[in-house]
Amino acid sequence: MNTLFLSAADPQTPAVAAQIIKNGGLVAIPTETVYGLGANGLDEAAVAKIFEAKGRPQDNPLILHLWGKEQMADYCREIPESAWRLAEKFWPGPLTLVLPARDNVPRRTTGGLSTVAVRCPDCAVTRAIIRLAGVPLAAPSANISGKPSTTTAQHVLHDHNGRIDAIVDGGPCRVGVESTIVDLTEDRPRLLRPGGVTPEQLLEVLGDLVVDKAVTAAIDRDAVVKAPGMKYRHYAPQCDVVIVAGSREKAADYIRRHFSAGDRVLCFEEELPLYEGCAPLAYGREAQVDTLSAGLFAALRILDDPAVGRVYARCPVGGGVAYAIQNRLKKAAAFHVVDAEEEL
Ligand code: AMP
Ligand code: MG
Repeated sequence: MNTLFLSAADPQTPAVAAQIIKNGGLVAIPTETVYGLGANGLDEAAVAKIFEAKGRPQDNPLILHLWGKEQMADYCREIPESAWRLAEKFWPGPLTLVLPARDNVPRRTTGGLSTVAVRCPDCAVTRAIIRLAGVPLAAPSANISGKPSTTTAQHVLHDHNGRIDAIVDGGPCRVGVESTIVDLTEDRPRLLRPGGVTPEQLLEVLGDLVVDKAVTAAIDRDAVVKAPGMKYRHYAPQCDVVIVAGSREKAADYIRRHFSAGDRVLCFEEELPLYEGCAPLAYGREAQVDTLSAGLFAALRILDDPAVGRVYARCPVGGGVAYAIQNRLKKAAAFHVVDAEEEL
């Protein structure tokens, strides 16, 4: 298969991509979070191709991408007033809502669940494609399953060239980590995955929020969990990743003492001088957390190299978007965190 490379700046692109979607094909789409691998979310055969292309476990559900909140009631039932308030405040944007699914949503899309995840991406070309296709776009992150997510069209080309119908190049993703997911099907709203919309922002609208245990701890593969995707090894380069917590100086001291040839250090730009000779790679500025979220997956992809022994990673502290970075890095590290203030 010849994979078409389409520019978001080309006025023909939405119509070309929408036609491929209507024909049951696969199109990689830019969004503000990460690049998605999109197909008609109502077409079981098209959705099956997403699972096949990614090597994604069948019970890991997909998010339906809508062109506006008006579409929510077409695919969701029993929509609480809080869902409308969240959509009003954060859509288009990096927030996914889990709601009871209508019968027109195939179980293949929902990973067999009776609920469905929906969001409206903040990316004009992608919303135009969805609108022209006239169907919701099922789109997980476009990476091969288990690998770091795709935040540029080149990442998608690397993983899927010749295996999908088209890639729409909309430049690097602004947020860089996947959407925040909130489950609204229980008595209390539940955070299933942190992202660009922060827990603090959600609390302001909802007044209440439970954080699912999958956000902060390793989950057993056989466990029944609310966010099935969260139990799989995720976002990870092929080598071991260790997060080194603690002050700048103590962490540098710990890493320099444990560093072996072939290892790498994933750090903040401000820390680069501390790691001379330790093959440091900066993923953004600690003082500007959105540069860290935007740069994280591109950096993890560079480190996904058989020549790399072990990665020592520095992780921002605190809430807001840092909370999402902590979640992704901890998953990449299989929750291996050492505290340089205590360890020798
Ligand atoms: P991805 O698009 O690759 O970031 O993955 C989408 C994630 O959304 C999945 O891994 C699930 O954790 C979550 N998700 C999608 N649909 C549902 C649902 N109905 N209930 C709970 N979580 C969901
Ligand atoms: Mg993913």
